[in-house]
Amino acid sequence: MNLCDRDTIRALLERHGFRFSKSLGQNFLTDPQIPADIAAASGADENCGVLEIGPGIGPLTAELARRAGKVVSVELDRTLLPVLAETMAPFPNVEIVQGDVLRLDLGALAVEKFRGLTPIVCANLPYNITSPALQKFVETSCFRSVTVLIQKEVAQRLSAPQGSPEGGAFSLFLQYHMETEALFEVPRDKFLPAPKVDSAVLRCVRRDRPAVEVSDEAFFFKVLRGAFLLRRKTLVNSLSAALPGRDKASIQAAIEACGLHSSVRGERLTLRDFAALAEALREKPGI
Ligand code: SAM
Repeated sequence: MNLCDRDTIRALLERHGFRFSKSLGQNFLTDPQIPADIAAASGADENCGVLEIGPGIGPLTAELARRAGKVVSVELDRTLLPVLAETMAPFPNVEIVQGDVLRLDLGALAVEKFRGLTPIVCANLPYNITSPALQKFVETSCFRSVTVLIQKEVAQRLSAPQGSPEGGAFSLFLQYHMETEALFEVPRDKFLPAPKVDSAVLRCVRRDRPAVEVSDEAFFFKVLRGAFLLRRKTLVNSLSAALPGRDKASIQAAIEACGLHSSVRGERLTLRDFAALAEALREKPGI
């Protein structure tokens, strides 16, 4: 069955009485080359256990199953379960788990399902859960890589060079743990129904150790997030708002001690700058 053929998709879904849900981000791929390219980009092979989110009717699941040792696909929409039972029947290494990826214990799932395999993530993500899902994949440290189809602008932001205005706190959080790269674009007309935006594949590979060394990770991220709290303001003003109880002069002194200009904005800083700034702020009294 060609799971990307529009007529096949419509007939299959009609037979199962399925209706597309906008709130579940249900935009299904209609070009077989795209799931094949995404699965290839994930690097999945027989040594990998792939966690897929939102299999839909299974076009990417099938491509992953052809390459990986095992595929576990988490689907929230119960009405897709009988569809997947039919379309995934030829793939004994695919297991469907009904649930909300944001509520599952993914570490425990990987231990239970991927014994002896290297866990990775690969998915055409529903747009509305992109950030919390990515955060969860990063925080579940067993996943060696994450390859996802997401909104194009988000993929560009998350792979933006450090210190460029396109980036942000979440881009830097991701890049602290992972090397990120935007691979290729997928135009909106390749989906059924067509979304309002174009998409792109983002590939993230976990670093052996974080991009910079910090002595207090919680404080480092407090400073990093604080720098973007008032995005249009200078770093000193944004940090003054984010770190109540700390006087502006000591923040200014710490910024200058790192060799940064006193009127710099948070978006101009690299992870290395933030690491130095967090250390300088820790050393000043009144933290
Ligand atoms: N993989 C299919 C494809 O590429 O054609 C469908 C991708 S579609 C963009 C997103 C899928 O994620 C839908 O099947 C939707 O039901 C499912 N989904 C939405 N929210 C979810 C969640 N919180 N947990 C698991 N699956 C979810």
